[in-house]
Amino acid sequence: MDDQYDVIIIGAGPAGSVTAWHASLGGAKVLLLEKDRDIGYPVRCAEGVGAAGLQSIVDPDSRWIANKIKGVDLISPHLKTIHILNEDFGFVLNRKIFDNFLAEKAAKAGAEVLTKAYAESLCFGENGRVNGVVFSHFGRRLSLRAKIVVGADGVESRVGRWAGIRTQLKMKDIETCVQYTMSNIDVKPDVCEFHFSRERSPGGYIWIFPKGDGIANVGIGISGEYARYKSPLQYLEKFVQEHFPKGSV
Ligand SMILES: Cc1cc2nc3c(=O)[nH]c(=O)nc-3n(C[C@H](O)[C@H](O)[C@H](O)COP(=O)(O)OP(=O)(O)OC[C@H]3O[C@@H](n4cnc5c(N)ncnc54)[C@H](O)[C@@H]3O)c2cc1C
Repeated sequence: MDDQYDVIIIGAGPAGSVTAWHASLGGAKVLLLEKDRDIGYPVRCAEGVGAAGLQSIVDPDSRWIANKIKGVDLISPHLKTIHILNEDFGFVLNRKIFDNFLAEKAAKAGAEVLTKAYAESLCFGENGRVNGVVFSHFGRRLSLRAKIVVGADGVESRVGRWAGIRTQLKMKDIETCVQYTMSNIDVKPDVCEFHFSRERSPGGYIWIFPKGDGIANVGIGISGEYARYKSPLQYLEKFVQEHFPKGSV
């Protein structure tokens, strides 16, 4: 570890790792900080991605592709279904392996990757510009300088706020989500389902993303406005009991 970097990136999710990878390929001296011990875990994602978007970033690799998706079903409250079919629709990933793969790409391109490195605050120069990061790493508190600091700390982001950017959202603009990874369930093997209903998932939807072998991510997101009356977990449990009574979580 040095005192001075071209770029310090906070957060080794896909955004942070891809930024670190490409900045390193471009010749920058890069440090990537991740607060968790394991990159890509815990998984907070239904793991579905469109093929075109993914392929614009990285070539699909069987190590982190759980399933190929050939269609999407959009299901209305009265169970009318729109089928959208496309041989190359997308994929369901294994996010833990995917996130690790991207961080490895960054490291192989020359970035230094530190896990258990918790960013605590930003440093500011006399001109008021961000010029470094304070973080803790194995009980030590370190302060390192960088020409550019990237906040890639995801949905919980605090880095933007530290830099003076207003990042707070209104409850109605936030989806509250919960997801089960279920096995022993009977689902279409290569179709992602989206169920829309004001009664079953107000202000959001329920998803079923198959991962192969009777395993699927089954989750729900509802508007924060409704979550204060009934939790997304209560909605999801009802859906699971009705649709997959023999499934295991
Ligand atoms: C329930 C749910 C389902 C979803 N399903 C899908 C889906 O099917 N398809 C899809 O494309 N997207 C989905 N998403 C969204 C997707 O997960 C995110 O868009 C994606 O993970 C964002 O990537 P990121 O790199 O910006 O942030 P993240 O993946 O959140 O990574 C941020 C990283 O920053 C680290 N970090 C945070 N604070 C600090 C700190 N102070 N110091 C150091 N490190 C820090 C975190 O530990 C984390 O590793 C879903 C999200 C949720 C919540």
